[in-house]
Amino acid sequence: MLKLSRRAGSLEESVTLAISAKAKAIAATTETERAEERVIKFGAGEPDFDTPEHIKEAARRALDGRVGSYTPVAGTPAIRKAAAAAYRDSGIDTEHGRVLVSCGAKHSLFNALAVLLDDGDEAILPAPYWVSYPSMIHAAGARAVMIDTRPDGCVLTPERLEAAITDKTRVLVSVSPGNPTGVTHTRKQLAALGEVLERHKNITVVSDEIYQHLVYAGTEFTPFAVACPNLADRVITVRGMSKSWAMTGWRIGFSTGPAEVIGAMIRFQSHTTSNPTAIAQAATVAALNGPLDAVREMHAAFDRRRQLMTRLLEEIDGFLLYPPTGAFYCFPDITARLRGRTAIEFADELLEKERVATVPGEAFGAPANLRLSYACADEDIEEGCQRLKRFVDNL
Ligand code: PLP
Repeated sequence: MLKLSRRAGSLEESVTLAISAKAKAIAATTETERAEERVIKFGAGEPDFDTPEHIKEAARRALDGRVGSYTPVAGTPAIRKAAAAAYRDSGIDTEHGRVLVSCGAKHSLFNALAVLLDDGDEAILPAPYWVSYPSMIHAAGARAVMIDTRPDGCVLTPERLEAAITDKTRVLVSVSPGNPTGVTHTRKQLAALGEVLERHKNITVVSDEIYQHLVYAGTEFTPFAVACPNLADRVITVRGMSKSWAMTGWRIGFSTGPAEVIGAMIRFQSHTTSNPTAIAQAATVAALNGPLDAVREMHAAFDRRRQLMTRLLEEIDGFLLYPPTGAFYCFPDITARLRGRTAIEFADELLEKERVATVPGEAFGAPANLRLSYACADEDIEEGCQRLKRFVDNL
């Protein structure tokens, strides 16, 4: 009989994808123009904008040239230089030889965890966590050690970090601004984590900074490697084009860090996927070296929607919000409103009764929460929150 590997068995089914498939199926079978029957999509983890025109134009130009060949595994010199310059702009000391370009930040993160973790190792994962982390850690043969950060407002404290470290700990995953929480760690909070890690030399930090540009309300974004200069040779900083440039489908992510680790990641990528698509690389060079007007416009829209959604959710009795300062998610604790349901059941009923798609907290290791993305039209936020309030009032 066909037998799958133990690693395959450790891969959880994605709750996020399951609920978005259901929302799409409902939307597809609704043959109506009636506004009240439209599915409002708060489930999305991607911008609702299209890629800015000058970036698409660069891809068209690339197509007119010769793009049918492999590029170097780690990316073309042009993209590695552009990415290195972007890292340096944010205070990280690097050069293009220490940049690896991959097929999305997800791929960069997988590469990093694959070369840092062995069977039986432990990776510390602050919860609520982004949905793919446990599976990536398990696929690398390691154990994910979750730290519940909700009692501290979804901020990882040095005390909880210290308590979770064992002699098997090899990696700390840090995500700021966070998905699903929308919470951004301050420079001081990161520096405090760095002080703990200075005492534990075997631990490397994988810092996921995919939401780097999406911070609001005067929040300062600080890269982990900048907050903790003493750890600069132990931090892998991962970024990408998906969220701030509305380029999820282009699949471009980056990593930088110590030459030894980046070198291993390049070797790993060379035997698994090779280079990311040449056309997407050319488009990314134009994005990184070009004007930021479109990025700023999208940022302004997200900020406006963040304020709108926050205000409307605060009006729902029993929803407790962590003030969202980054990314494009609100993540209320809805314990008081579950009334015996799980968050999965709550989200399912909400989708069926009111046609509002959200992601239940179970997907992120936070079973009393609900993730709502405000990467959608302002009118949808108004309408969806009104329906959500009606649903909650009728429970
Ligand atoms: N990291 C976090 C925290 C994310 O939310 C996402 C996407 O949802 C990713 C990484 C992956 O991004 P990419 O599209 O670049 O693979």
